[in-house]
Amino acid sequence: MKRINYEKSLELRATYDVVVAGSGPAGICAAVAAAREGARVALVERYGVVGGNLTAGYVGPILGMVGKGTMRDEIVALLGVPENDMIGETGRAHDVEQAKYKLAEFVCHPNIDVYLQCTVCDTLKEGDAVTGIVVAGGEGTFALGAKTTIDATGDGLVAYLAGVTTEKGRDDGLMQPVTLEFTIDGVDESRGVICIGDVDDVQLNGERFLDYCKRCADEGKLPAHLAAVRLHPTVRAGQRQVNTTQANGVDMTKVEQIYPADLELRRQIQLLLKFLRENVPGYEECRCTSSGTTTGVRETRRVMGDYVITAEEMAAGCRFEDVVVHRAEFIVDIHNPAGAGQAEEHIQYCDPYDLPYRCFTPRGVENLYVAGRCISGTHRAHASYRVMSICMAMGEAVGIAAAMCAERGCTPRTLDVAALQQRMAAKGIELFD
Ligand SMILES: Cc1cc2nc3c(=O)[nH]c(=O)nc-3n(C[C@H](O)[C@H](O)[C@H](O)COP(=O)(O)OP(=O)(O)OC[C@H]3O[C@@H](n4cnc5c(N)ncnc54)[C@H](O)[C@@H]3O)c2cc1C
Repeated sequence: MKRINYEKSLELRATYDVVVAGSGPAGICAAVAAAREGARVALVERYGVVGGNLTAGYVGPILGMVGKGTMRDEIVALLGVPENDMIGETGRAHDVEQAKYKLAEFVCHPNIDVYLQCTVCDTLKEGDAVTGIVVAGGEGTFALGAKTTIDATGDGLVAYLAGVTTEKGRDDGLMQPVTLEFTIDGVDESRGVICIGDVDDVQLNGERFLDYCKRCADEGKLPAHLAAVRLHPTVRAGQRQVNTTQANGVDMTKVEQIYPADLELRRQIQLLLKFLRENVPGYEECRCTSSGTTTGVRETRRVMGDYVITAEEMAAGCRFEDVVVHRAEFIVDIHNPAGAGQAEEHIQYCDPYDLPYRCFTPRGVENLYVAGRCISGTHRAHASYRVMSICMAMGEAVGIAAAMCAERGCTPRTLDVAALQQRMAAKGIELFD
């Protein structure tokens, strides 16, 4: 590969107590939590909307659970999803369009500068310490200084650029498939089936709906890898959030793989619409009203931190002295990296588990936290904690921690975790049984 040297001086536009890279479920909670603690915060997002998969990715419902009193509850209420509808077999998705506005209001705080359409493209470092980020915006590149940086990019990009060890996928390197979610309306609620996922036994004319879809695939009515037709209800009658397209073998950190995946997934939407209209009662008049403005990415880098949590620990309901997310709960949901449906024959259920502070502190660097799906864990562990409720609680925890670092003049690694836990408990966040 040919390389060139490129040198340039950059404007240091501002220096903050906390810079948050990425405004997904983890990033928005990190930014707001830090701001509410009095920190000066920058929230940097590459798209023109905050929310990450919650908005740009068209992902819903907000799945998973965490202990009482976290920002997750505030966001669920803000998005107007009745709590009873969030769980169980009818998990309802929020209204994505409303969420774009409501989350924009959520991050509107006097202590937060929101940089939209600004892509983080490098880090600033002094020795092992991350001292800020380089951002590409409409005027070119500029720098933002930070006492503490939070990597909430989902892809662990900041940590990767800072030289932290990262891992991808399972042992053979394959990651979970990418999916383009889309919304349909015009579903006849009196007949239109709801199917929330691969564990759903919902019946259609006396046959398990997912078995019916598989039979249709065998008859050539649907490509075999699209046979897990997941149709989530939303807060609007007659609407479904469709989580079914999938492309395998895609690494979304490789720019050359993004457009072919997007094109393939958009073609699949057309196939699925035809299938639904022609084969599923109640869906005869359905139409696609919108789709993700970005491919939905389940898995890319996992940033290796001071502790690497495993699914086996989580399944057993692990507890840690340095807990910062308590009673996280979700199955180990591995969409098959090499085919349709689930990767494992039997779904692994988890007892409500804790996430320790050390999963959020990347090894070998200072002044940096990670939050969201890229925290330090194994491929199987990631498949559980990646859901949005848990990512929100992670963001809130490190946001408060980062604000305390600024307040106390310490670093994430020297912060007194017991003091952080006390601060969280004083806010009503449940951390211990
Ligand atoms: C198809 C699909 C279906 C899913 N279904 C569900 C579901 O039903 N329920 C559920 O709870 N979870 C679901 N998940 C999982 C969940 O959506 C994600 O794991 C979760 O959103 C991760 O949150 P995050 O904040 O870590 O990252 P993200 O939501 O990915 O947000 C990261 C943000 O960082 C920004 N960013 C990235 N790089 C840069 C950069 N260089 N500069 C600036 N900004 C940057 C992105 O634009 C984005 O806004 C699903 C995921 C996918 C892909």
